[in-house]
Amino acid sequence: MAIKVGVIGLGNMGGGMAATLAGKGFEVSGFDLSDSALAAAQAKGVNPVKDRGELIRSVQVLILSLPKAEHVEAVCLGEQGVLQLGNAGLIVVDTTTSTPEASRKVAAELRAKGIAFIDAPVSGGPKGAASGTMSMVIGADDADLARALPVLEGMSGVRTHVGGVGAGNVAKIANNMLAACHLISTAEAVNMAAKAGVDPAKLIEGLNAGSGRSGASQVMFPTWVLNKAYDSGFTMGLMRKDVGLASDLCNAMDLDLPLSRTVAQLWKASAETLADNEDFCAIVQRTNAQLFGRGE
Ligand code: NAD
Repeated sequence: MAIKVGVIGLGNMGGGMAATLAGKGFEVSGFDLSDSALAAAQAKGVNPVKDRGELIRSVQVLILSLPKAEHVEAVCLGEQGVLQLGNAGLIVVDTTTSTPEASRKVAAELRAKGIAFIDAPVSGGPKGAASGTMSMVIGADDADLARALPVLEGMSGVRTHVGGVGAGNVAKIANNMLAACHLISTAEAVNMAAKAGVDPAKLIEGLNAGSGRSGASQVMFPTWVLNKAYDSGFTMGLMRKDVGLASDLCNAMDLDLPLSRTVAQLWKASAETLADNEDFCAIVQRTNAQLFGRGE
């Protein structure tokens, strides 16, 4: 019999994950506060459920793809949430870029009721979610991970088990701190080379064959920056949240990382000119509006 999977949060990422699993034979139901997200998921083979409690009660694996840790805590521990309504044996897979503290707190409370929680934040963007090729960094007990594996394999291409609950969040925050840094440092390299007379596209081609390459040079610049499309499906608001999570994590440990601190300041200041719903790659425009702007 098909595994019954629920997805709460059917946005850019969760919508793709739900559709991918439905396409692979899982029995997938979805819930979202937005009617348009529900309708879009329904069109891709997902059973739309209007009552969140009904979804929580009826599934074996529950995937969360929510904006922030506070949403995860509310859905898991709040009124009519997972703690109240989930059956013993349920596995919650949280793909939200959340915090290690929230994951550990939620996991401990759910565990007392026989419900497992693992943090499995993702990389690969909406394209990766819709094609089942995302990568995951996973924080989980071995036994919980083994039980969740058939569903995780259905929705991702690469999985790295980095430690116990919360470790996946730490690894994802580290990943996005680097991505935030690489976008700005690559933009600065393009600025320097352009001023010295080298074409940005040619520079990126050269960097990608050399040791200066990164996700920014290999994916972000060719796909969303140089063509001025700025349509990655990942917003400025969510990336600023992630950079803030890195700062919070460092502060909580009294860890001062000068380069990361500077990068975090640049992302925070970007709110002056770049709204939350702008594409995250638009940060490069702050280094040179003429070179990277849309030219409108
Ligand atoms: P999104 O804003 O497109 O989707 C979030 C969805 O959650 C929305 O449809 C919203 O209506 C819904 N939602 C919010 N609160 C809810 C609640 N209480 N109950 C039910 N639904 C609720 O965001 P996204 O881009 O899909 O990102 C989701 C998570 O994945 C974030 O934590 C983000 O940082 C992370 N992430 C995003 C990307 C990306 O490329 N977009 C990549 C990796 C990780």
